[in-house]
Amino acid sequence: MKTCLTLGLLFALACPHFKHPESNSANASVETDGTFDITVDAHEDTPQRFLDDNYDVGSTDPRDTDFISLDKARAGHLDAIFFSIWAYPAKYKGHFGQRTLDLIDSVYSQAERHPDRMMMCFSVEDIQRAHNQGKLAALLGIEGGHSIENDLGMLRDFYRLGARYMTLTWNNTNEWADSSGDTGESDVVHHNGLTAFGRAVVLEMNRLGMMVDISHVSDKTFWDVLAVTKAPVIASHSSSRALVDIPRNLSDDMLRAVARNGGVVNVAFAGSFVDNDFNSEAYAQHLRMLAAAEEYNAKRRAASLPVSPEETQRFEVEWLGKNKIPRVPLKSLIDHIDHVAQVAGIDHVGLGSDSDGVDFLPQDMDSSADLPKIRQALLERNYSPDDVNKIMGGNMLRVFLAVERASRGLQTPVNSR
Ligand SMILES: [Zn+2]
Repeated sequence: MKTCLTLGLLFALACPHFKHPESNSANASVETDGTFDITVDAHEDTPQRFLDDNYDVGSTDPRDTDFISLDKARAGHLDAIFFSIWAYPAKYKGHFGQRTLDLIDSVYSQAERHPDRMMMCFSVEDIQRAHNQGKLAALLGIEGGHSIENDLGMLRDFYRLGARYMTLTWNNTNEWADSSGDTGESDVVHHNGLTAFGRAVVLEMNRLGMMVDISHVSDKTFWDVLAVTKAPVIASHSSSRALVDIPRNLSDDMLRAVARNGGVVNVAFAGSFVDNDFNSEAYAQHLRMLAAAEEYNAKRRAASLPVSPEETQRFEVEWLGKNKIPRVPLKSLIDHIDHVAQVAGIDHVGLGSDSDGVDFLPQDMDSSADLPKIRQALLERNYSPDDVNKIMGGNMLRVFLAVERASRGLQTPVNSR
C-alpha cells in the first residue's frame, strides 16, 4: 500500500448532458442537454493490490477492507474509476516503465476476469457505453512522470495502452518537473518548475488527448503548466490549502487559475488533507512511525537480516494498522468540496478519493458503497441535484471531453524525444 499520507503530512451518463457546438460524429452520442449524471472517482490506488496481493475486484469476502470491489462500487452507484498506476520510485528505480506496464496489465486482467461487470474505457463515449451496459468503467491514470523514463515515445505508448491522465510528479521531483514532496531536500536536483522537456511533455499530452494532472507538483511547476498547456488540466486528488495548509493542497489562487483554465479539482479524501487537527496528530504519529521503523531496521541489521524499502514499507503499514488515530468527520471532507466549489466555481470541483492509497479516510467513508453519503451531505448544504451531479463526476467528464476535443486541433507532433 502506498502511504501517500506520510508525504502529504509534510506539509449520468445514461444520458450525459454535455452541450458542445462543434460536435462531431465520434461524440454525437454524448451530446445531450445538461449535466452528466454519473459518479467518477478520479483517483483510486487499487492496482497495487491487484498486482502485488492478488486482490480480485470481484471479491465478496467481508474481511476485505478495500475501498473498491464490484459490489461496493455498484452499491455506491460508482460508475467510473481512474485507477492509479504508480511505480514506487524508491523501489522501482531503473525499471519504472516495466512496473508501470505490470500495473496497467493488472487492471486489464481484472476487466478480463469480470467481463460482465467491468470494462476498460478510453474515452467519455466508452464510459457512457459501460454505464449503459451496467458495467464499471475502468480507466487508467499514471501517477508520477518518472514512469515515462524521460521518453516521449514511452508517454505515447502508455497513451496507446489507455492511460488518460498522468500526474506530472508523485512526491519525488523527476528529471523534468519539481514535486511538492521534496521541496526542502538539498540532495534533490530541482529545476524551478518545469524544464524545457517538461513543457514538451505537457504539450505532447495535450496533443495526445491525455489529461495533465497537477496534483503532487510544486507550486512553480503548477504555474508553469498553466502557462504552457493548451487544454484544461485536472488535479486528480488535492484539497484546499486555505483549509489545510499543506503543499499537496491547492491555494485559492490556484483554484481560481484551474477555473480560468476550464479544468477540475478532484478533492482528495485523506484525513491529513482535509482536517487540521488530524493533520497535526498524524504528523506526530508519522514521526513515531519513522522512529519505530528505524529501530526495526537497526535490529534487522544487527541480526544480519536484509533491510529494503519494501520491507520498511511493509513494517510501516503494519505499524500504522496497530497505531490508529481517530478518523476525521465526514464534514471535513464536505467542507473542502464546498470550499473548492465556492472559490473555483461549481463547474470545477470533483472527487478523487485516493482510496486504497492512504490510510485514513473520513468516518462513514469505509468503501465506495458510502459515496452516496457525499451526495446527501451536499444536498443538505443546499446544492441543487444538477450541481451535485457535476461534483460527483460531471465536471471530470466535461474536462475529459474538452481534452479529447483539444487534442484534435493539435495533431502535429510537437517533439520526438
Ligand atoms: Zn498521490
